[in-house]
Amino acid sequence: MTRSFDAIIALGSNMGDKIGALGRATALLEAHGEIDVLNRSNLYRTDAWGEEDQDWFVNACLGVATTLSPLELLHFCQDIENELGRVREKRWGPRVIDLDVLVYKDIAQSDAELTLPHPRITERAFVLVPLNDIAPKLVIKGKAVCAWVQEIDTSGILELDPFKTSEKAK
Ligand code: ATP
Ligand code: CA
Ligand code: CA
Repeated sequence: MTRSFDAIIALGSNMGDKIGALGRATALLEAHGEIDVLNRSNLYRTDAWGEEDQDWFVNACLGVATTLSPLELLHFCQDIENELGRVREKRWGPRVIDLDVLVYKDIAQSDAELTLPHPRITERAFVLVPLNDIAPKLVIKGKAVCAWVQEIDTSGILELDPFKTSEKAK
């Protein structure tokens, strides 16, 4: 399969200026000399997953071209999380920003530090819906993203109006 991106990054925020945090994270990725942001999904308002007793999230996905290695890309994503003030508390708890590397080329690995593809993509509508915007034909666990998205409950996922969010996202 030919594709324009080398990797896809999923972004999420459920504290403070959520859309602003996604915008700042995207700007920091773009500012890196070895990362080009090629595709952006829509922004989605999503119900919290895993730990449901917390505020709703804004989620999106970005397709990037990069000459960084997978681990270098992950570490830069973690630098951005720190830069934006993420505090690590309980698993799946509230966060200012979360950046996950969903896929990197065709690499499949299960290291604790970096598992590729990200192991929970296919059970998360908040990942599959934005991922479907930029990579519907991407195959995860033997099936295309556009097929996975048809099988999952997307009732908690709402597309945000780009006209209302574009100014704030800058
Ligand atoms: P989840 O991984 O279920 O989405 P989370 O994003 O809340 O949960 P974090 O606390 O952000 O989890 O990350 C926990 C660890 O996951 C990180 O220290 C990182 O090394 C590891 N990790 C493994 N694979 C990946 C990946 N593909 N992308 C990002 N982090 C990963
Ligand atoms: Ca995550
Ligand atoms: Ca994460």
